[in-house]
Amino acid sequence: MFNTNHKIIIAGPCSVETEEQVMTIAQGLKDANLTLLRGGIWKPRTRPNSFEGVGEEGLPWLKAAGESINVPVTTEVAKGEHVEKALKTGIDVLWIGARTTVNPFAVQEIADALKGVDMPVMVKNPVNPDVDLWMGAIERLSAVGIKDIAAIHRGFSSYGQQVYRNTPMWELPIELKVRMPEIKIICDPSHICGRKDLLQAVAQKSYDLDMDGLMIETHHIPDEAWSDAQQQITPEVFKKLITDLVVRKPET
Ligand code: PEP
Ligand code: MN
Repeated sequence: MFNTNHKIIIAGPCSVETEEQVMTIAQGLKDANLTLLRGGIWKPRTRPNSFEGVGEEGLPWLKAAGESINVPVTTEVAKGEHVEKALKTGIDVLWIGARTTVNPFAVQEIADALKGVDMPVMVKNPVNPDVDLWMGAIERLSAVGIKDIAAIHRGFSSYGQQVYRNTPMWELPIELKVRMPEIKIICDPSHICGRKDLLQAVAQKSYDLDMDGLMIETHHIPDEAWSDAQQQITPEVFKKLITDLVVRKPET
């Protein structure tokens, strides 16, 4: 999955909401040359009493949406039980979220559930700027035999109002690349920016740093999204964003 010289391009909603919603978004993305269709099923919300994901019921909706456009699908897992349910439904790729990467017990539980399973996994950076913690999660997966692993750079949280929802601190993914040169790094401008108007510039910056791909949240009616409404863009806007990116070739 990640052993490619092409950019890894991932799009789809923050959360899977309904069967129709995820299918409509997938249809909007069918000519976008996606590597993966994303959709959150279990949502790690900061405060309780907000939408926490549709749960298990949404797994077949996500899978069917991906199949309708011939694109493999990915969702976030935070515990062993999520892994088992995702495996049963034929989810193709898993990712570990930023709030889970910080917790070695949770990462180990996920790794244990993946023992003997041949499945690609993406690891988001921990919410705090700690490259060792990020590497540790990757190492826990490698140790159980997972071979196809990518990292996702989604920025780091800090106190107070900032331009970015999560400060990019580009030096951290650069350090990860130096210390683990074989690991592809996918940038997630949606969770870095927390707003639409900065997405293009942050995506371009990741390309300029020669990062390996992008994960961008897309929704057919972003303003009505059940989570992360401010940062999601429509499939049409997403396609234009990707087309407008400049891939600068090193001078020879
Ligand atoms: C997400 O991708 O929707 C998500 C919850 O991301 P993060 O773990 O980066 O906050
Ligand atoms: Mn989100």
